[in-house]
Amino acid sequence: MNSSRPPSAAPALAPNALSDTLSDTLSNPLSTALSADASAAPDIYGISRWGAELLTVLPSGRIGLRNPLAPTDAPTDLLSIVESLNERGISSPLLLRVEQFLGHRMQRLNEAFLAAIRATGYEGRYRGVFPVKVNQQAQVVDRIVEYGRPYDFGLEVGSKPELLIALAHSLSPDAVIICNGIKDAEFIRLALLSQRLGFKTILVLESPKELALVFEESERLGIRPLLGIRIKLTRRVSGKWALSSGDRSSFGMTISQVMEVVDELRARSYLDCLILQHSHLGSQIPHIIEIRHAVREACTFFLELRREGAPLRYLDVGGGLGVDYTGENSATPNSVNYSLEEYCTNVVETVKLALDEVGEAHPHIVTESGRACVAHSSMLIFNVLEVTRYDSPEPVVEVEGDHEMIRHILAVQRYLAPMRLQECFNDLTYYRDELRALFRRSQVGLRQVARGERAYLYMINRLKAVAQTMRALPDELRASLDNMSDIYHCNFSLFQSLPDVWAIDQLHPIAPLQRLGEPPTRSGILSDITCDSDGKVDEFVLADGVKQTLPLHELAEGEDYYLGVFFVGAYQETLGDLHNLFGDTNVVTIALRPEGGFELLHEQEGDTISEVLSYVEYDPRALMNSFKKVVEERVNRCSITVLERKQLMDAYKDSMTGYTYYER
Ligand code: PLP
Repeated sequence: MNSSRPPSAAPALAPNALSDTLSDTLSNPLSTALSADASAAPDIYGISRWGAELLTVLPSGRIGLRNPLAPTDAPTDLLSIVESLNERGISSPLLLRVEQFLGHRMQRLNEAFLAAIRATGYEGRYRGVFPVKVNQQAQVVDRIVEYGRPYDFGLEVGSKPELLIALAHSLSPDAVIICNGIKDAEFIRLALLSQRLGFKTILVLESPKELALVFEESERLGIRPLLGIRIKLTRRVSGKWALSSGDRSSFGMTISQVMEVVDELRARSYLDCLILQHSHLGSQIPHIIEIRHAVREACTFFLELRREGAPLRYLDVGGGLGVDYTGENSATPNSVNYSLEEYCTNVVETVKLALDEVGEAHPHIVTESGRACVAHSSMLIFNVLEVTRYDSPEPVVEVEGDHEMIRHILAVQRYLAPMRLQECFNDLTYYRDELRALFRRSQVGLRQVARGERAYLYMINRLKAVAQTMRALPDELRASLDNMSDIYHCNFSLFQSLPDVWAIDQLHPIAPLQRLGEPPTRSGILSDITCDSDGKVDEFVLADGVKQTLPLHELAEGEDYYLGVFFVGAYQETLGDLHNLFGDTNVVTIALRPEGGFELLHEQEGDTISEVLSYVEYDPRALMNSFKKVVEERVNRCSITVLERKQLMDAYKDSMTGYTYYER
């Protein structure tokens, strides 16, 4: 778990909250105002493209955080925040969440749906839910619930621990809790019982097999379920999740399974419980047309199911609303060719057109947008520890006694010209390799090889200088020269803080927090402090596209150089071991016996739900108490009996001490 966290955020959306709380320790704002204006410097990192509403470059050359909820407020110097946190003993690496960034995304999403509904005359409501797995951190979910309450915004859960989180929150009475994923009896029981507290908890059937457990538990408790059905769309999408979309999607029912479920629900007189249809296309869908087509197909299913007699009231189109990480505004894997507002309008309009065609009543629209709600709200900030330079800045001049290969290396400068750049590179590499080969055969000494390496790096530097003046360069040569960049060793762990960068080549914009008015004279890749060779970032979002190296500044003596990785609020914080809050599994070590069978050598129990909840900053006792309060209040209002109170509390308690995985 990330141990460096910002202090608790203010509970409510105060427009100036951030600058107010930190103003005591921030450096004098005048000092930034009086220094040279860096905002006029070229925006090589593309901050104005990808960070537009949230970030700016201050005249001091530092990154400023804008308050998107109060755009006329003066931006706050990010480096001063970091320094001020350092003074409090909170040092980097540091995951910084900005309260208003989250509030702003929630506001934008909900307001955009409201506007689209008003503009099109749509008769249903928007009932968005936040998928808890995208960021389960207590502070984030608490804020989402708070910002979402005026909009009847709910939560999506995919496991029992996530359901426990949802039930400990006070959602608006019209908000829904969507239960996805494969559910065991305990999960189903708790979801059913929660209806007694006024939660609209919808059990989304993932497969026909789940029906038996649902029937059994509802009959035992005497509670009619609120049911959804997850369908598998036939359409596939592009982007990072292309292979798991359409028929290859591992979740959702095929058309024949859907019919099986409908028949079974009808036969058992449960068809009236089927109120929601769910489909999820994938995450970070780059193309708006694909979203439109998928929503249209979902409507076809929806109308067919209504025709079958299911009183469907909610159409849940899942996640997929993408984030423009690169600022390219195009249908590439790390960008999207649509805005959040366009997404909302397109969804509403597509559903309306499809339903109006056949004169059917408009359903409430549910989306499960996770990434789009939280990605922008956090940034990872770390300092550079040291640099391995890939060059030799001092000129190397031929001297008496230089080995022939060194003389050849230095002679390259005589024919170094743009037209012969590739040839120069080939020659340098050949002579350097020859020198190394001679060393391996003990034909040259260590000092000569070291001098040869310096001569080679010095010449590579000169080649890079020529390359910079050229507009076109063969891709291979560009890549080779880019590969010969510095390595900036940074104070963070890629696997802990940026797992998607490693796992799925996710791009996050990265920029220095300071010296943005000063042209960077180095270029490098970033290496983390783990000893793993994969622990590096070597693809970067820049103003002129995605590049293999990041322009960086020479480190200054006695001055920390900070980098920020932006838009890391979705998935990154909990993707490691705790995705969906499934904790460590039980671990058993066995030895096979020669005569057959095995010997149990070691057994280690997996995490309980209560343990994983405490990893993400929940206090299980406090959760239990707030749940108890809600239940007791219902007893006082006579909406449940004391016996039902006991049943609810037992179910909650049992889950808390139980295993996070499926239990039989
Ligand atoms: N809903 C379901 C069922 C998911 O599996 C996911 C994530 O893949 C989401 C919602 C969230 O998707 P996104 O973050 O793209 O909004």
